[in-house]
Amino acid sequence: MAETAPTAGLDAAASFDGVNAGAILTIDLGAIRRNYRHLCKEALPSRTAAVVKANAYGCGIEAVVPALYKEGCRTFFTALPDEAVRVRKTLDGLAAEIYVLDGLLGAPADYVDSHLRPVIGDPYQMAVWNAHPVIDQPPAPYALHLDTGMSRLGIRHDALPGLRAKGVFSEPPALLITHMACADDPAHPLNRVQINRFNKLHQHFLGVPTSLANSAAVLAGVAKTYDLARPGIALYGGRALIDGDNPMEPVVRVDARILQVRTVEPGETVGYGATWTAKSERRIAIVAAGYADGYLRHLSQSDTTRGGMAAILGKQVPAAGRVSMDLTAFDVTDVEPGVLDATGALEIIGPTITADDIADRAGTIGYEILTGLSARYHHRIIDTEN
Ligand SMILES: *Cc1c(COP(=O)(O)O)cnc(C)c1O
Repeated sequence: MAETAPTAGLDAAASFDGVNAGAILTIDLGAIRRNYRHLCKEALPSRTAAVVKANAYGCGIEAVVPALYKEGCRTFFTALPDEAVRVRKTLDGLAAEIYVLDGLLGAPADYVDSHLRPVIGDPYQMAVWNAHPVIDQPPAPYALHLDTGMSRLGIRHDALPGLRAKGVFSEPPALLITHMACADDPAHPLNRVQINRFNKLHQHFLGVPTSLANSAAVLAGVAKTYDLARPGIALYGGRALIDGDNPMEPVVRVDARILQVRTVEPGETVGYGATWTAKSERRIAIVAAGYADGYLRHLSQSDTTRGGMAAILGKQVPAAGRVSMDLTAFDVTDVEPGVLDATGALEIIGPTITADDIADRAGTIGYEILTGLSARYHHRIIDTEN
């Protein structure tokens, strides 16, 4: 069956046999593993961690973490402590470092009990962490987040020396991190500024391992001179650099069930607001996925604006009318009726139409498409490596 066929991969449509969901989300752990190995190679001699925040970018922490562990990944980053606890539980006793990027939320005990490491970015959090009693044990490890120019989280680069002088970070962190604002655009001048600031501030913590590179920075060759790379999006096949070909393999596919195929006459409209008009007799497939599934309403196609595309056996078909909550219409006039009947579904994300393709059409980025993947999709995990 498709569920266990090792070589089928993402090119094959999922089967709806025994599935009553409207759409099937297929995740190829083999593709994630190959993407991880590719990133590891690009980052060498640096080690490579995995960012698995937002439920592993929509792909599922419980499936993704063991696959990465198999490839040798021993450091994971989440945004929130609850996600980190899920990673810890998934690892079921296997040794790994888990960092919480948003820092210390809630009680330090929640972190210590699950051996989680907060990424601390302000003196108050540092004080709370230090005040947590760890009897007869070395202080619990944490990472220090430096803001070198993104103005998001972390200690401002120009505030660190003063804080150091006051003894605020006298207990050295286990990891020193910063995050780049423009790594997706390697020519951006802020990159050099941030790198220079980070390298200089490292002098305050000689011997402490460093982490700077997200996916884009790894692919741009910036990771090599630091100790730990932190890619996220590229693991999941998303485009990290704004220019050039995306070297990563697609990881997800969404097949949406065709509920009805109907004919509309010239001059008739499709969907809410009557924004799309048939210019000739058209055949319209109504599929069971909509904006409540993360298929963004910005993918609506009207008489005057371009919307989303779906695919069937590699052939692309345009959306017709507004995306509604649970349903989207596509113009399948150019597809043989026999093909529609045999397949019974359209690929709305996958190897033909990637998450980045529909992101471009919706005015967003692949990250938002992946992290918005619906919880009500039937989740199907395959591993083309096994
Ligand atoms: C999300 C995030 C990453 C991963 O970024 P990608 O662009 O997905 O590779 C790395 N570091 C921090 C601090 C992040 O917030």
